[in-house]
Parts: sequence; C-alpha cells; structure tokens
Amino acid sequence: MFETDTQDVAQRAFTGDLPPEVRVEELIARAHRRYAGLDEGRLADYIPLLEQADPGWFGLSLVSVDGTEHAAGDTEVRFSIQSISKAFVFALVCEAMGHEQVHDRVGVNNTGLPFNSVIAVELNDGSPMNPMVNAGAIATTALMPGGTPAEQWEHIRSGLSRFAGRPLELDGEVYRSERKANQRNKAIGRLLESYGRLDTDPLDTVDVYTRQCSLLVTATDLAVMGATLADGGTNPRTGERVVSAEVARDTLSVLASCGMYERSGEWLFEIGLPAKSGVSGGIVAVSPGKGAVGTFSPLLDLAGNSVRGQRACAYLSRSLGLSLFASAAHPVSQKVS
Ligand code: GLN
Repeated sequence: MFETDTQDVAQRAFTGDLPPEVRVEELIARAHRRYAGLDEGRLADYIPLLEQADPGWFGLSLVSVDGTEHAAGDTEVRFSIQSISKAFVFALVCEAMGHEQVHDRVGVNNTGLPFNSVIAVELNDGSPMNPMVNAGAIATTALMPGGTPAEQWEHIRSGLSRFAGRPLELDGEVYRSERKANQRNKAIGRLLESYGRLDTDPLDTVDVYTRQCSLLVTATDLAVMGATLADGGTNPRTGERVVSAEVARDTLSVLASCGMYERSGEWLFEIGLPAKSGVSGGIVAVSPGKGAVGTFSPLLDLAGNSVRGQRACAYLSRSLGLSLFASAAHPVSQKVS
C-alpha cells in the first residue's frame, strides 16, 4: 500500500540525545517531588482487588537506550500490567504475523471512545479498530502463535518477559478477581465472533487476555520494556533482540494515535510521545532513540489514566526535550505546568 525502496530508508532519524546523566537524575527527582503530593483522581474499582492499592504509591523510572536507569520513589512496587500488555502483545503478534495481516485483521485507527466500548465495534461494522482498546487487544491476542490457549499464554508470558529482561509472574489473585468481573470483555469477544473476526474460541481468548493483563511489573520494568521499543526492538539491559526495528516502529506508531484511549490526541499535543497506560496506574512513554519513562501511581482520571503519571510525563517530556515533535534536542524556554 505505502511502499518505499530499501535504499531510500533512512538509517537514523531522531531529535538528538538525552541531556547529561546528572541532569536526567535531577529532573526525575524533581518530577517526583513536584507531583508526589498531588492527590487528584480515584482508584480503579472495576476489579475489586485494585481498590486495595495504596493511593500514595508513586514511582518514576527512566531507562535510556544504553540501559542506564534513573529512578525515584516506589519503583519496586509490583502491580498488574493491565492494558499496557496490549502494546507488547501487539509487537509480538506483528513480529509473528507481519505488518499487513495485523493492519487488516485488527486496524490502527482511534475509536474516540472508552477502552471497553462495545458501541465502537458496532459503529465500525465489527472492526476491532485498533489493538490498544479491548476489542482490538482481544483480536490481537487471538492471533498469537500457538495451537492451544495454554501455548498462546506461554508465548505471551515469555515474550513480555524478554521485553522486561526478567521472568514476569502472573498475579493469581488479580487474575481470579478479574475473571469474575470480565463479563464485558466476554461480550466483546462474542460480538467479534458474531462478525467473523475471531478464529479462536472467544472465551478462551478472553481468558488468555485476562492473564496477560494480570502479569506483575514495576515502574522499572515498564521503563525497560519501553526502552526496548525505543532501542529498535533490542532490550538495552540484556542485549537480546525481542522484535525487529520495523515492528518496534509500527508499535510506537499505534501507541502515538491510540495508546491513551480517547485522550490520545490531547496526550500527543501535551506530551508528544507514544505511550500506553493501564488501569492499575502504570504508564510507559517512549522516546525513540533515547529511552522510555515508566511511571506508577494508582489514582486515575475519568479515562482511566494515572493522574500523577501524566503530569510527571508532561514535565519530563518538556524538561528533557523528549517530544517527537520538538525540532531541537533541548528545550529553550518552555513553560512547564
Ligand atoms: N484488564 C482490563 C480490561 O480488560 C484492562 C483495562 C485497562 O487497563 N484499561 O478491562
């Protein structure tokens, strides 16, 4: 559809490097101090267990493409990855199936509607629309290689662990809690089936999807996973190639337009980075060629995005010059709210 001759593909194109390490360290600490006292938002309650989170938790980590970490706050607290898994499962499926297949079967356009919308599927003639909302994520999980749901789950668990550079474990309690409360996702699965959009059993696929959402991560894990995408698919900590550079690029493109649900446009305007959030309070924001920020704070806004996480990402994007759309590596006189 959109073709390029191989010789025309640029080798490297991004807006400079991160500032010196001491400056990054200082700005991470400053961002943490600045927003730690902010107590707007509310805890997610649609999975009963998420309501038990400590509203004071706040962790910030930046991992650069050379693998260096700068961190502040609760970066060791483990929480379920939730929707952030969608980004990395999408990358694994793209790697296995190729760009065209995923484009045709799942789609890459924003719905403008909440992440768990059923209407979005109906309005779009059964299209799951994009891999970052539940319908598209369920359709993506269905495409995961493996002859059985158990094999698909194992591929997802090991693939996300390669992104994180360490073995990720399932939180059995969160999984069981969500399994009891995921009627809406089952309905979305059945709806996709009715449109002939799934080749798997919808309830099996929703079960695999529920497991992938229940994998435990920390803010540091999110930063390493994001830095793997920033580094063209190679984990900067382990040196392992997890996905190709083309897949990393495609994943970041979808995150830019759809990663923050119906707030994606506003996010791109304010922060200018591909990113993904999840209802347990995590955000990963990726600056290609530079690194990634992982944040964790469980108080959410109405779209289900972490309040402190968004503010910290905005501050860091501007003060570190991370935005994709900045024409210079370092900011000159930006107002930072
Ligand atoms: N597991 C959640 C769901 O499927 C994830 C939602 C989210 O993080 N936005 O509804």
